[in-house]
Amino acid sequence: MLVQVHGCFCHDHGCSLSRLPTSRTAFWEEKFAPNRERDRRLEDAAEAAGWTSLTVWECETKDFEVLERRLVAVVGTQRLGMDQPTTATCSNEVASTIQPLSG
Ligand SMILES: [Zn+2]
Repeated sequence: MLVQVHGCFCHDHGCSLSRLPTSRTAFWEEKFAPNRERDRRLEDAAEAAGWTSLTVWECETKDFEVLERRLVAVVGTQRLGMDQPTTATCSNEVASTIQPLSG
C-alpha cells in the first residue's frame, strides 16, 4: 500500500488550508505544479504495481478519530495503533522514503 501524507498548501489540496497567496500567483503555481505531478506519478506507479494508493491530507489530520476510521476502512478492520499525528511538513523527499508494506 502506498500512503502519501500531503501538506495541503504545498500539494494544492484545494481546501481552506491551501489557498494560494494573492500575489506572485505564477510563482506559487510553478512551485506546486511539480508536487502535484510527483504525487500523481507515485499514485500511478503504485496502482500499476498492484498497490492500493491512499492520500491523507493535512486537513484530515485535525480530527484523529475520523482519520483513524478512514484508515481502518481502507486498511482493514484491525486497529492501527497509531499515535496522535504531529505537525505535517512539506517534503520533497517523499519518493525516497516510500517503502512497500506487507499485507
Ligand atoms: Zn486540505
